Amino acid sequence: LYMNGVFVDPPETPGGRILIVLHDISEITRLEKIRRDFVSNVSHELKTPITSIQGFSETLLSGTREPQEVERFMAIILRQSRRMEHIVTDLLTLSKIEQQEATIHMQDCNIAGLMKECLELVEDEARNREVNLRLEMPDLPMLMLNPFLVEQAVVNLLENAVKYNTPGGEVLLEVQLNPAQPAEPETLNIAVQDNGPGIPKRDLPRLFERFYRVDRARSRSLGGTGLGLAIVKHIAQVHGGSVSVESEVGKGSRFSISLPYRRESDT
Ligand code: ADP
Repeated sequence: LYMNGVFVDPPETPGGRILIVLHDISEITRLEKIRRDFVSNVSHELKTPITSIQGFSETLLSGTREPQEVERFMAIILRQSRRMEHIVTDLLTLSKIEQQEATIHMQDCNIAGLMKECLELVEDEARNREVNLRLEMPDLPMLMLNPFLVEQAVVNLLENAVKYNTPGGEVLLEVQLNPAQPAEPETLNIAVQDNGPGIPKRDLPRLFERFYRVDRARSRSLGGTGLGLAIVKHIAQVHGGSVSVESEVGKGSRFSISLPYRRESDT
């Protein structure tokens, strides 16, 4: 708590009063800490590839090398610069969503078509990793949502379910409409379930934080930035919705996005 006192009347005035103003700055301090942590995380994430690019470029410039070695070093430099590009793209996505927050543009969406498109975007990767994709979805009316953001969120979840899976694994994309409850609007529920390695209980509360990873080395080697789930959470929030996760080590994970929506006829 931060406190400052202001003399409303000159102190020497007989009967002078003191006004004490109390500011609760715990929220400001918390936001300030989040901002500091974020800047330090971004710097750290970018510093690793920069160091590697500098190191390998210096080695290449410092003397003659076998062509094979040159090729190997150049490939590392290219991979690391792609990694930086990926991080910067994800950061820009996050900041764009933050800026749009108040003005997010909703339009009529054909959810069935959108979900099929999402699956198509991860199809190649799933085939390479021998992971099966499955879709369960009832007939759905046209719904007012932001299709670009919903697609981004679903693809992020599908990409994770595929890349953290094992060969022969399965990913289910399940879509449901939940009727309105007292004091609760109708919601579109989109769940992505996998039978991969699962996530330890202790990691679940922090999973949607920017740059949080369960296994940093594995995430990096799979090309992850640690921002995918933070983006999913943000997209759910700008729709007035939420995300949740259930997971069991050795059994798999289920991520769900719940989005309140309006039907075309409501507008
Ligand atoms: P990343 O770019 O590292 O994948 P995300 O924010 O998408 O970042 O995910 C954060 C972390 O959560 C990942 O690094 C991974 O450890 C874990 N994770 C996400 N999805 C899954 C999943 N389906 N199965 C197991 N672990 C997962």
